[in-house]
Amino acid sequence: MSEETKERCCCPAEDRAGSSDNEKRLGWHEYFMSVAHLISRRATCSRGHIGAVIVRENNILSTGYNGAPSGLPHCNDGNCRIYKSIHPDGTVEENCVNTIHAEINAIAQAAKHGVSIRDSDIYITASPCIHCLKVLINVGIKTIYYDKPYKIEHIDELLRLSSIRLVQVTMAARPKE
Ligand SMILES: [Zn+2]
Ligand SMILES: [Zn+2]
Repeated sequence: MSEETKERCCCPAEDRAGSSDNEKRLGWHEYFMSVAHLISRRATCSRGHIGAVIVRENNILSTGYNGAPSGLPHCNDGNCRIYKSIHPDGTVEENCVNTIHAEINAIAQAAKHGVSIRDSDIYITASPCIHCLKVLINVGIKTIYYDKPYKIEHIDELLRLSSIRLVQVTMAARPKE
């Protein structure tokens, strides 16, 4: 169809609107990752804003963002407290003492409300650190979808040894398996 023909299309306005809506419709991965990004805007640790969404059968079970435990002072009140730890490979890692990571907060929210998250998937705006990955394995998460890599080199071995899957979902593209 030429451009000229398109411009002269005589379809009812509703039909044209329908087809353009279909083109823009989000896939499930983009949908849940968009929600994770939105949730990350509630994060309070000044070192980074991360969001997490736990999903089973396209249904959101729980959400979390990184920040201080409920009722305690937030990092963005100027009290971010950094500690350093050394990995077995010699690399130095920095973390904030005050902060619970987003994926752990999503798990905590599920536990608090009695929601089973066994055999679910999680969408996180950044790949999990090794500490969170260990917990994700034990709560029965099947697939971790992440947007940005974060200390990803530290989790290679654990991923190899477990059956949990790690899949990158960038907002403008299909997941890379
Ligand atoms: Zn902090
Ligand atoms: Zn973590």
